[in-house]
Amino acid sequence: LPSLSKKGLSIEPSVTLAIDAKAKAMISSGENVISFSIGEPDFNTPKNIREAGIEAIEMGITKYTPASGTLELRKSICKKFKDDNNLDYSPSQIVVSNGGKHSIYNALMAILNPLDEVIFSIPYWVSYPELVSIAGGTPVMIKTKEENGFKFNSEDLDKVKSDRTKAIIINSPNNPTGSVYTKEELLDIANWAVKNDVFVISDELYEKLVYDGEEHISIASLNDEIKNLTIVINGMSKAYSMTGWRIGYAAANQDIATIMANLQSHTTSNPCSISQYASVEGLTGPQDSLIDMKMEFNNRRLKMTKLVNEIKGITCNIPKGAFYIMMNCSQYIGKEVAGVKINSSVDFSDMLLEKCKVAVVPGLAFGDDNYVRLSYATSMENIEEGIKRIKNLLGEK
Ligand code: PLP
Repeated sequence: LPSLSKKGLSIEPSVTLAIDAKAKAMISSGENVISFSIGEPDFNTPKNIREAGIEAIEMGITKYTPASGTLELRKSICKKFKDDNNLDYSPSQIVVSNGGKHSIYNALMAILNPLDEVIFSIPYWVSYPELVSIAGGTPVMIKTKEENGFKFNSEDLDKVKSDRTKAIIINSPNNPTGSVYTKEELLDIANWAVKNDVFVISDELYEKLVYDGEEHISIASLNDEIKNLTIVINGMSKAYSMTGWRIGYAAANQDIATIMANLQSHTTSNPCSISQYASVEGLTGPQDSLIDMKMEFNNRRLKMTKLVNEIKGITCNIPKGAFYIMMNCSQYIGKEVAGVKINSSVDFSDMLLEKCKVAVVPGLAFGDDNYVRLSYATSMENIEEGIKRIKNLLGEK
């Protein structure tokens, strides 16, 4: 073979998908594996949205659409931004893409020049480092602490700032930590971004999943200056249990939105016409299934954190958002468990999969080896059984 792309070769495969594949392989060979490695809601897409998808097919809405999405969907998204986030955008500032991940990619491609630096926190969502690198930038990470709710602030940003700093990625509610930034915390970061003339990519995919009376605030809504610097990323995947439909969207300053739309027009044309039609129904139709889903997630969150905190040598904070918990397993690193030497979160995850048939994601995938991530996007029954298995292995406090 002639030589392959250096950039392509440097891309790491997703560790979360690798663990999931291993667990699925065990399940298909008949093993009774409980998976806490899931990154998607376990509910079906709400009926009204499914029916809208069928209707779209029957009506022949099966052709190309404008590159940045149908006007109808972009208008619905503008209304969503106004109603939920008090943000005013015109449809031309909205770019609908093939999922939130694709929106983040387009956003990075629109703002980065070679070696520009993009700051985000550790633990990070698995794709941020790779997406930044693919877009030609350099990832710069701030290691956050559990006792600070895994959040960073303007002082942390000062420490890593350089002449090449181009953007910050903020993800609230956060995957994997479940942290939610408060208005004051966002204002501190917004003031820093404005002072230093740095873009903000605000990944708000988990917006609808906040608990304990916590409120999701979009950093872009704080004032006009930060709005102009922010690319808001959101989508249908997590809020409406539509991961497979592949609809994400971005809202940005007109210059940025235009570049994103142009880029998309030459790479993927438009997002799926059927999914776009169904997404209009999702955004404008009844929202009750969303409320039911959130209530169920909340019950599972409380159950899972309670049970996990009963396990010997393990701690976890109660997260405020999304559907993940970070289980602190640092007390086991360097020790032997069930005859297995644990040197990392990967060893710990492998050990759990092997010894109790429970799949979790090693913190290494998120840049922090002291944790494993558990998703509660699974039934209450699985949560009880899975955590019981871990407790039986490690012991009770
Ligand atoms: N951002 C975060 C923090 C996520 O966890 C995910 C999905 O796991 C995404 C973005 C991308 O979502 P999608 O591309 O499915 O819309």
